[in-house]
Parts: sequence; C-alpha cells; structure tokens
Amino acid sequence: MISFLPNPRPVEPRLAPQYHAYLGSHPPVADEPRTQERATALLADAVQWRASDVHIEPASEQTRIRFRIDGVLHDVAEVPNFSGHRLVAYFKIQSQINATAIATPEHGHCRMAAGGTVLELRTTVAPTVNGEMIGIRLLDTQRPLLRLDDLGMKEEDQRHLRTWLEGMQGMLLVCGPVGTGKTSTLYALLHELQKEPRSIVTVEDPVECNLDGITQIEVHVKRGMTFPEAMRAMLRLDPDYLLVGEIRDSESAHVAITAAGSGQTLLSTLHARDAVGAVTTLRNYGLQLWEVAAAIELCVSQRLVRRLCTKCRSGGPPGDEAAHWYGELGLPVPEQIFSSVGCDACGGTGYQGRLGIFEVWRIDAEAREMILRGADDLQLTRHAMAQGMQPLLSDALAKASAGLTSFAEVRILAAEVRRTTGGLALRP
Ligand SMILES: [Zn+2]
Repeated sequence: MISFLPNPRPVEPRLAPQYHAYLGSHPPVADEPRTQERATALLADAVQWRASDVHIEPASEQTRIRFRIDGVLHDVAEVPNFSGHRLVAYFKIQSQINATAIATPEHGHCRMAAGGTVLELRTTVAPTVNGEMIGIRLLDTQRPLLRLDDLGMKEEDQRHLRTWLEGMQGMLLVCGPVGTGKTSTLYALLHELQKEPRSIVTVEDPVECNLDGITQIEVHVKRGMTFPEAMRAMLRLDPDYLLVGEIRDSESAHVAITAAGSGQTLLSTLHARDAVGAVTTLRNYGLQLWEVAAAIELCVSQRLVRRLCTKCRSGGPPGDEAAHWYGELGLPVPEQIFSSVGCDACGGTGYQGRLGIFEVWRIDAEAREMILRGADDLQLTRHAMAQGMQPLLSDALAKASAGLTSFAEVRILAAEVRRTTGGLALRP
C-alpha cells in the first residue's frame, strides 16, 4: 500500500506522561512483556486529562494512540504496530471480547482501576486495512457529580430552575444534540432534589451514576425491561419527582406527558435544536398541542464550549477576520478577544474542561396560549426573548467577553446554532 500523506497531526507527549515515561524505561521490543503496565499507564494518563475516550488506531507501520479530551481528539503517542497490537489484544481480553474474532466489529465492557479511580470501559473493536482499531469509552465511576453552580449557568437562570424544583409541577426538559452535557445538568438538578425529603424515581439507559436515596431503574431490553416498560414501573411507584433519561420516541413521550399532565413532576432530556424547538419535537412524537401546552414548564437548551486554560490564555485586539465576523452578526466589535497557546498546565491544548452554554425558556401563560394556537418557532422565540430569554449565542458571547472561552470556540458554536436555528440565534 502506498501512503501519500504524512500524518499531519503532531503527537503531544504531555498528554500521556506516564505512558511515555514507561516507553522510556521499557522501549517497545518485538516480543514485549508487561502490556498490562503499559495499559495501566495509558489509562492513568487518560484519567489525569479527563479523557472520555481512548483510541488505538494502526496505520501502515505505526499505531497512533489518541485521547478525546473535552470533545476533541488529541494524538498522545505513536508506537510500532506490534506494540499497538498488543495493547488492543489486552483491552479486548479485559473487555471479554472474543480474541479470535478479528473480521467483525465487537463490543465489550469491563471495570479497571487506574489513576486512583475505577473506570468503566465500554470497548469497541473494528477491523481496518491495517489491523484492528479499538475505541474505549471511559466512565469514571467515582467522579463527583456536578452541582448546579458548577455548570456555568447564570445565577438568574439557576434561580428559575430552583424555583421550578420547589414548585413541583409539570415538565422540565433539557434540550440539545448528543454530547452537550444534558445528562450532567439533569444529575445536577437531582443533586438539588436530594437535599429534600422527597421520593425520586429515575429511568435511565444506562444508569451512569449511582445516587443514594434515589430509586434508579435501568432499561434492560434483553430482560424485558424496555424503556416504556420501565417508565410504567416508575409511574406505579408514584414518586414526587420522575426523571426520564431521554424522551426518545412516541411511546416515551406519551408516558411522560401523561405523568406531567396528571400532577407529577418530570425531568427529562430531549433531542431538540433549541428551547422552543422542544414543542416541535414533542409534536413530531405525536403529542397534541393542548397536551404540550399543559405540561411543559421550563425548557433549557444547552451546548458545551471548551474552557480556556487560565495559565496560557491571553486577550488581544481582534484581527480583521474576527472584526468582520462580529460585523456580520450586527454586533459591536469587542476591544479584545481571547485565545490560548497551550502550556504544561493544559498539556498544550490551550483548554481545561468545558463550560455549559444555556438558554432557559420559562413558559408563561401567553406562551401556553401561543402553543395552543399552533404558533411557530419564530413566534415563540420572539415572545421568549421579549420575556427575557437570552439565546444560546448571546450566552456564549458573554462568556467569550469574560475570557472564559475563546473566540474560536464561539465561532464553532455559532456556526452550529445558526445552522440549526436558521439564523435566528441572536435576534428574533
Ligand atoms: Zn495552558
């Protein structure tokens, strides 16, 4: 096979210090022992940098090891294919994947101790032209839950959420695409509820975090516990609060709306492009306008941006391109915009963790009337903003002005938000 392109991505050894230290003291050899030590060092590095995934990808001669950190893949090491192959084989065995199955994609899981915590590994192996590649999703089972204060939500919006939780009625929905932190927000709300002597039942697929004092039901299709079945079980328990991991189809939408319409308090996530988009999504699941209007109380739309490393960030006057970008949106050009160059503290990435970007829509009496009359997204957005809802992009720009995130991150978010909301992102 002819390779025309050199791999353009540089390896960042600062993101895998323990693995590289191990390679230094035990260089890869054809018949290498101690694969377990190599794997453990790699996982410890992944824990240190809060990686959500580890990829081991063979090319023609070298195998690249990558971490996904804050949603972005970084190349952290490159080793000879024989060494990479041993790592793949090791993780396959640990994850109880048939070691001889190399022609088809396989899935497995296991728990491993590394970096001072216990990781749940969800492993996928796929055949490639250069050999097997492996993708490992890492869940830190001992990671502390985020609190409402930690999410990056404005105090005023946090107050709306807390007020709703105290009021105990209707439905709160956290909306956004996959991987935007919706579940973390739900767990943060559960944490608020744990303080009160109230009964809470959840239906999750899977349960990502065990919580004391809360009844958690896990979906298990093979054992007959389907999502709708689990939701019916949840309703029979008649709790004060119901949490549904995700409203994902017509059946779960109907069960959720029935619960919320009959005086129970329900929290869930929904795949909707923005806060008012929840109405459209629920209608697409076959719910009637009056059902939606009666049940929804609060819709939170959210995204994630990377948080600038405070050690290497710097502000400076915007260049022509940035000034043009602000001008196109009809916004005043800020005096300075922030970026970062990467340092030891952030492993050269320029970022440390992520930050939520939020839009919180409180459904008032007039909005309910509008939903009943079949108002479209544009009309609902105009009304919501007239009532004080700050759209996603405004929240992102405010956080960029404060130096919490970079201009580059806001541009990425803006492109996505404007695409999905048809340019409605900033002004109705
Ligand atoms: Zn830095």
